[in-house]
Formats: sequence, C-alpha cells, structure tokens
Amino acid sequence: MATPVYLDWNASAPLAESAGAAMTRAFATAGNPSSVHAAGRAARKIVEDARAAIAQAAGAADARVVFTGGGTEANALALNGFAPAECLVSAIEHDSVWNPLSGAGVIPVTPECVVDLSEFQRLLDARKPRLVAVMLANNETGAIQPVAEIARLAHGAGARVHCDAVQAFGRMPVDFAGLGVDTMALSAHKIGGPQGVGALVARKAAVLAPVFAGGQEQGIRAGTHNVAGIAGFAAAVRSAVPMSPELRDMLENALRKAHIGCVVHGAKAPRLPNTSCIGLPGVTAETQVMALDLAGFAVSAGAACSSGKVKESRVLAAMGAGKGAGEAIRVSLGPATTAAEIEAFARAWAALAGRLAPVSAAA
Ligand code: PLP
Repeated sequence: MATPVYLDWNASAPLAESAGAAMTRAFATAGNPSSVHAAGRAARKIVEDARAAIAQAAGAADARVVFTGGGTEANALALNGFAPAECLVSAIEHDSVWNPLSGAGVIPVTPECVVDLSEFQRLLDARKPRLVAVMLANNETGAIQPVAEIARLAHGAGARVHCDAVQAFGRMPVDFAGLGVDTMALSAHKIGGPQGVGALVARKAAVLAPVFAGGQEQGIRAGTHNVAGIAGFAAAVRSAVPMSPELRDMLENALRKAHIGCVVHGAKAPRLPNTSCIGLPGVTAETQVMALDLAGFAVSAGAACSSGKVKESRVLAAMGAGKGAGEAIRVSLGPATTAAEIEAFARAWAALAGRLAPVSAAA
C-alpha cells in the first residue's frame, strides 16, 4: 500500500523538524530550572526564552504564561475554583472544558456553529455568571467564535472569560490582549510541538487556583518543568506558518461535485483554513473513518473519542444536525499537506460515497 496520507492534524500534528531539534538540544541540558547552579540556570534560560516566544506569538507580552502538561491541563487550571452553577459554557466546547463544567448554563450555537450572541446576552442577564468559557475555534468544524465581543459583553456583566485557543493558536492570528479575555489555553501538539505540553496565558490580575500544589511555575503549576517539551513547543511556535484555505476549499469543492449528498458543516461560518467537517448522509462516521483508513487516509470522526470508539458528535448535535451528527468526518490539513494528497483523498471519498451512500452520485 502507498504511504498513508495523514489528514488528522487537529487530532495531533506531526512533530516539526525544528521542534525535534530543539528538544534534542534541550535533552542534552542536565539541569533542573529550579536549581541555582549553572546547569539549572541553563535549563531556566530555555524555559524563559520559550515563555517569551510564546507570549509574543500569542499577543500576550503583558500577561502571565504558565506552562502546563497540555491544553487539557491549561483548561483545568483556568476553571479550577469555579463551580459549574456559576459558569456559562458554549455548547461546542472540547470535553476538557465541557465535562468539568457539567451543570453550567449552556450557550447555544447557530446551525453554522457560531455562538448565538443574543442568547448569550439573555443568559448573562438571567444567570449573572462568574465565569464564561468560549473557545476561539472549534476543533470539529473549525468555526471561529466572536470571542472579543463575548469578552466585552461578559465583562460588562462582571464575569471572567476563559478562551480555549488550542486549535486556533498557530493556525490563525491569536491576540490575547486584543481578544480581551482573562485566561487562554494553548497546546503544543496541534502545531508541530510535542504532546503533553501546553500553557495557560492569564492576565496578571487574574487569580489562578493551582491544580497541583507546590512551588514551580510562579507557584501556580507545581512539578519539575518539562524543559525539552517546552523548548519543542517554542520551536514549533517560531516555525508555524499561516495556512491558506486553498487546499481546504479545493477539497470541499471536489467532494460536493462528486456526491450530491455531501454536506460541509459550518461552511458559512468564518473558519480555520485547515478544517472541514464533511457529512455523508446515511453512512455512519465510524464506517467512513474505517473505509478511508483501509484506503490509506487518516481522518477522524467529528469527535475523536478518547476510547478510540466513535460516537455521535455533541458539537454537530448542538448545531441542529440531527441524524447528521453521527454521519460526519473531520478532515484537517497541515502545512505539509499537498494538492496531490487532496486529489487522492477526493477520489477515495467519491468511491466510498458511490459505494455506501444511498443518494445517487451527481454527474
Ligand atoms: N481543546 C481543544 C479545542 C482541543 O481540540 C484539544 C485537543 O484535542 C484540547 C483542548 C486538549 O489539548 P491537549 O491534547 O493538549 O490536552
């Protein structure tokens, strides 16, 4: 079989060469950043240089950057200390925000996967939350949320705002100061850094409740720093290249042409340039993912479940997709994706649709 084509960059991007090289160099540094001797200072310098690079890339020069063990932990740190009943959360958040806030007020989204601002205002007035959590770009559809406006409205009502920018950072311009949020979660492995490293960006005035007690990371995140991981994160950030939507659009046009039943969920929303959520009515997401895997293409179901099983997408259900919530795959591209790969994928998808979908193929 030909080399598999990887179209699941939103699940995890391949390690960038620059990140691998930076990690190899950092692994050769013996020290613990908390030690005062020269080796410790050398390790500390790696961490502080990375902190400055990430702050700069995130438009957060005046903010605090706290390194964590990934995006999930950054979200947990931001939410720690808030009871769900005191919070509002968008219906399309990643599980790492959604699950800890079970019982919070839910902000609905439009059928295009964008937070409904008038409903949000109504919920703000009715519930007077202490915290509002809305992501910057959705991991399944790529839909970009009106976070600056949400922060303005939430602050007007006295609430703090957390933004999960894990999928957005490195793929679109992210400006922490311009968004006006209080805390923002980042992750390294979506943009070519290593898995298991992330950061919480926080306004200096925002009080954070540590998840792990101890001394490191400004007293906010205990545990010896993952120096090599942090170095890899910064290297990936430095070498991240903005993507154009050209290949994504080429893909969607080809699939729409190949099969009359093809649905692109959230297509009318402002979106990340690399993400397509594609529905094939009558064929379960699991069947599509497995058939494409056999054909040599790695994509995921709308929601990649931690157990490796495919279940109906909560995000698509919130968009009102009905039965379609269990019939969509996510195709996510990266800077290394080529037009030839997209053409090959479109051929494989068209063959699958012709074989499995009950609607007849368009001419
Ligand atoms: N938030 C979003 C939107 C994500 O897509 C993910 C990962 O899939 C996370 C948070 C979790 O990040 P990590 O895998 O670094 O824990």
